[in-house]
Amino acid sequence: MTTETVKKQNFIEKIITQDLEEAKVQKVVTRFPPEPNGYLHVGHAKSICLNFGLAEQFGGVCNLRFDDTNPEKEDMEFVDSIKADVQWLGFKWDGEVRYTSDYFDQLHAWAIHLIEQGKAYVCDLSPEQAKEYRGSFDEPGKNSPFRERSVAENLALFEKMRLGEFAEGSCALRAKIDMAAANMNLRDPIIYRIKKAHHHQTGDKWCIYPSYDFAHGQSDAIEGISHSICTLEFADHRALYDWFIENLPVPAQPHQYEFGRLNLNYTVTSKRKLKALVENKVVAGWDDPRMPTISGMRRRGYTPAAIRNFCDSLAVAKTDGVVDVAQLEFFIREDLNTNAPRAMGVLRPLKVILTNLAEGHLENLSAAYHPNREELGNREMPFTREIFIDAEDFKEEYSKKFNKKLSPGKRIRLRHSYVIEATDFVKDDAGNVVQVNAVVVPDTLGVDPADGDKPKGVVHWVSASHCVAAELRIYERLFSVEEPDKDGDFMSVVNRDSLRITTAMVEPALAAVAAESNFQFEREGYYVADRFDHSAAKPVFNLTIGLREDKALNAG
Ligand code: ATP
Ligand code: MG
Repeated sequence: MTTETVKKQNFIEKIITQDLEEAKVQKVVTRFPPEPNGYLHVGHAKSICLNFGLAEQFGGVCNLRFDDTNPEKEDMEFVDSIKADVQWLGFKWDGEVRYTSDYFDQLHAWAIHLIEQGKAYVCDLSPEQAKEYRGSFDEPGKNSPFRERSVAENLALFEKMRLGEFAEGSCALRAKIDMAAANMNLRDPIIYRIKKAHHHQTGDKWCIYPSYDFAHGQSDAIEGISHSICTLEFADHRALYDWFIENLPVPAQPHQYEFGRLNLNYTVTSKRKLKALVENKVVAGWDDPRMPTISGMRRRGYTPAAIRNFCDSLAVAKTDGVVDVAQLEFFIREDLNTNAPRAMGVLRPLKVILTNLAEGHLENLSAAYHPNREELGNREMPFTREIFIDAEDFKEEYSKKFNKKLSPGKRIRLRHSYVIEATDFVKDDAGNVVQVNAVVVPDTLGVDPADGDKPKGVVHWVSASHCVAAELRIYERLFSVEEPDKDGDFMSVVNRDSLRITTAMVEPALAAVAAESNFQFEREGYYVADRFDHSAAKPVFNLTIGLREDKALNAG
């Protein structure tokens, strides 16, 4: 018998189900519409999972469309990173990548159509004047003195705008809707403005560019988008979205639905703020492992499956909410615990000499990469006369409190290896223990000591002669406060000690692993081979996350 938990449909799934049942929609077509003005962040991951997920779930398709109507802020670097991020998350867009700029000719023609219908006009008010004429929430706006220009005059002026005959800001094309509308978005919004800017897709073809509002719904109509899903801040724009769709000869009638943005505590999720962190060199770049960008999370060692599981766990609601970052971390740990191979790295190496082994003793022990995932295979662990254990695993004197540690006369088991018993130790002039002498308890590979003196502790170790030095980049949260932007000054609460670089002695098998391989360093945490800097000659591992939720680790 199979028990299937039927997940409750969210409000968008309900709408789609009904639209399909009533044959209002034949095929579900969604889109993810990023503006290429920065790298994608965890909030975008939610939108990606929602849009691509709905298409998958209802047998439809999802487009990737760059909303590229602001050329000055946009860049091909962002276009490329966004494509890579979507693919890395495991989604495939339908057909070619699309750009709003693919539709600039059509949008221009529709602007002319509105002018011809007497529904758009060229307005010469300065931006300051236009603001004044717009009124406010509780005060209706005033009609622009240019509102009643003739169709012929508007057509001629708009053509001159296109030809570059006017300066930026000197005039704009506005829709003629209602200056007294309660919804301010309907107070004759700008639909085309002059921008003498080079565009990453269209070059210098245009010096006028459509507004987001004029471009978005019409692009949806051109692409036959059945459900245009965006975040709540666009709810007030929906009336305008619908007005354009009703007043233009568009090939389809798309509908916009809004859901709540994802916000995470201890995090900022706004491209503008993330950009400020990059530009002020608070982090090393957009893909710094401390960044909540998709490429940052990737470099940190978060996996696509874990991010998708997290996104799927979030409510799709009509309100914004703040999600505890621990919820994201839960899914990271869950995935890594199940899938990451285990390995050994010693962060505070303390040399142990196994005095009953011969000089040059070398035994290649075989160790499983995962306790319950046989298919992950084994690696060789060279066992030699000199090994490193973690300094924390040795105590000069035995005490009950530390009965899982090595101390003179006491035993521990080396993970995947023998039981050893310490005899004495050596200190340096400063009083630090720098060497421990111990003996291997014979015949204890995989079995308890015959004399019944079974050790309580199992510790990680590496061969001192065969280990490899690796750089470890230990990351903490970038913000040590729950609401970094509470007082509008997130820069002042950056955790400046959020990166610590240290060297660890790791088992030799780790040098050879591919970049981006995830591991659990036993008893230490989850680490990933750095995407760019790791090599066999110079292994570099980033701390992905600690083994368990540890407030101290992340308190900053
Ligand atoms: P930001 O405010 O970070 O600059 P944005 O909304 O301007 O983000 P866009 O590139 O315009 O970024 O967004 C692409 C899509 O991702 C939009 O549909 C947007 O609604 C959605 N999105 C952006 N941020 C979030 C978020 N925090 N949660 C959910 N969806 C988001
Ligand atoms: Mg935006």
